Amino acid sequence: MIPLGSCTMKLNAASELMPITFPGFAHMHPFAPLEQAQGYHEMFAQLEKDLCEATGFAAMSLQPNSGAQGEYAGLMVIKAYHEANGDADRKVCLIPSSAHGTNPASAVMAGFEIVVTKCDEMGNIDVEDLKAKAEEHKDRLGALMVTYPSTHGVYEEAIQEITSIIHAHGGQVYMDGANMNAQVGLTNPGNIGADVCHLNLHKTFAIPHGGGGPGMGPIGVAAHLADFLPGSVMLEKAGGSKAINAVSAAPYGSALILMISYAYIKMLGAEGLRHSTEMAIVNANYIKARLSEHYGILYTGKNNTVAHEMILDCRDFKRDAGVEVADIAKRLIDYGFHSPTVSFPVAETLMIEPTESEDKEELDRFCDAMISIRKEIKEIENGHADRENNLLKNAPHTADCIINKDWNYPYSPQEAAYPIEYLKDYKYWVPVRRVDNAFGDRNLICSCPSIESYEMA
Ligand SMILES: *Cc1c(COP(=O)(O)O)cnc(C)c1O
Repeated sequence: MIPLGSCTMKLNAASELMPITFPGFAHMHPFAPLEQAQGYHEMFAQLEKDLCEATGFAAMSLQPNSGAQGEYAGLMVIKAYHEANGDADRKVCLIPSSAHGTNPASAVMAGFEIVVTKCDEMGNIDVEDLKAKAEEHKDRLGALMVTYPSTHGVYEEAIQEITSIIHAHGGQVYMDGANMNAQVGLTNPGNIGADVCHLNLHKTFAIPHGGGGPGMGPIGVAAHLADFLPGSVMLEKAGGSKAINAVSAAPYGSALILMISYAYIKMLGAEGLRHSTEMAIVNANYIKARLSEHYGILYTGKNNTVAHEMILDCRDFKRDAGVEVADIAKRLIDYGFHSPTVSFPVAETLMIEPTESEDKEELDRFCDAMISIRKEIKEIENGHADRENNLLKNAPHTADCIINKDWNYPYSPQEAAYPIEYLKDYKYWVPVRRVDNAFGDRNLICSCPSIESYEMA
């Protein structure tokens, strides 16, 4: 289980990945003439249609290569729309303080001026503040960028009010679609009043994205924006009639991996997709129910539930036990788990997203690990364990350190390597111990082969 909140690391089934090995798709050049790529274009058309249905939008561009590139493309579309309406001055972009870092970065790239709006103590957008800022900038309001469900893991109840405030003041709504795994088949961006959104196909629609890519971030738009979808100098067919410039060299981005999302959608069908969303939400709420006796859940909705992910509050551990979230992340490796998302969107918290892919056994193992780690933190809090020299600060423990005859930690090798029963059956041995993150970040090493080695080859 890789419970990376906001990143939606779900199962990438072999049957979904298989088509990327088919030579007919894998060996096609992105600029191949239309008549040689008819199969691809049939797949594009169906995928666009299915994604339009999932988002409630009128048109889709399969060009952007990532969520961030989708944000940029979507904002450029909004800008072109305002310009076409003689509103070239609409350049203010409202962004709530809970937004993903790519949102302000994309807005700046697209030439917008950012105005940050507040969140309340429940983690929701402060509607009064939003209203005041929309009012203040009404002559120049271009867009709002909003994530739904929010990056705080809750369905923002006021979302429709929020989108209508923006529209009433002449702006367009960009919805960050990274959290679509909490929507597909149940609701959609069109429903909540968004005008554009990107889909992280490498999150919600099953493209693998460990190690940084490649992803795909198509954008969907409401009918009034369809004409502006990005074009391509290589392929007239791509994009709308008043297309903005291409955002990617290839007219359909990393087209090959679209096969994965296509297979995911076609094999699950409408019912299966909705069921996936439901299970993702149920799984998150199961974890929340088990962990809330042991950890504070930073934000919940009105019914004391979360959406498809949740934030564990770890901020007091630093004061009470000297334990930082990174220590919990490292200790989880000893328990055989990849850490959840660390310190996003709130510092010194963990954001957990189980997705629909994990069964109850795995969810229980994860909860057992988190509960056991909480007990280890308690031992430090009540003075039974040392603040500097403990199971968390020394984690992770390699096989090499466990079998070392000079073992001299104030706990046993068993406590370090087998703190919990299931590890006797499923033990992952980490290859290295803790590295100095800050040192590593500042001392870059190039691991690419030298020019000389090419010469010799
Ligand atoms: C992942 C993510 C993005 C950016 O998507 P990339 O494909 O990584 O560029 C934007 N917003 C949110 C909330 C995300 O989780």
